[in-house]
Amino acid sequence: MTVSLAGGKEEVRDLVSDLTAHSRRKGLGWRVKGLTLKRQCERRFAEGISADVQNADVVISLGCGVGAQSMSETFPERRIIPGINTSNMGAPEKKGVFKEKCMGCGRCTIDRTAGICTLARCAKGLQNGPCGGSVDGKCELYPEIDCAWHQVYTILEAKGELSEAVEPVPPKDWSRSHSGGVRTVRSKE
Ligand code: SF4
Ligand code: SF4
Repeated sequence: MTVSLAGGKEEVRDLVSDLTAHSRRKGLGWRVKGLTLKRQCERRFAEGISADVQNADVVISLGCGVGAQSMSETFPERRIIPGINTSNMGAPEKKGVFKEKCMGCGRCTIDRTAGICTLARCAKGLQNGPCGGSVDGKCELYPEIDCAWHQVYTILEAKGELSEAVEPVPPKDWSRSHSGGVRTVRSKE
């Protein structure tokens, strides 16, 4: 969260300052304390702030959705409030700007699509494309973004591997995707 400028030391400091000012204005008498830890999603780090969490009525987590849930599991008796709306798994483009490049489908097939994830980067999530609407390399739905399938073809063409693009990508095994309930992910799968 630090690199996404959503939950590092500065953001925690700003939130503490805002909440303290709000409490003062409204006469609420809140005592607000800010803490940062290396990773909320790892119990050993979360337990390092155990004493402070146990003393708190409410904890606002500026970690991602995984971190906030781990905090809830580590401290089930405490009320953990998410302070961040986690939206994607993105790669940093520039400071504070991320582009979603993977949606965690559980069966990576980008070896078939020139290293471009067309699930995450094509507006229609097409595994086999293009849709035919691309204009000048841009997406027909969002002209401000590059057509993912145009990128696939351009890369394969430059490498002289265009014949690979006519081989359809087989249907995906969606049982490992986000849909269908909680997944258990093992690093060797
Ligand atoms: S194919 Fe699946 S695992 Fe691979 S980058 Fe795309 S969403 Fe992520
Ligand atoms: S124009 Fe390209 S990125 Fe947009 S929906 Fe069609 S194939 Fe996908």
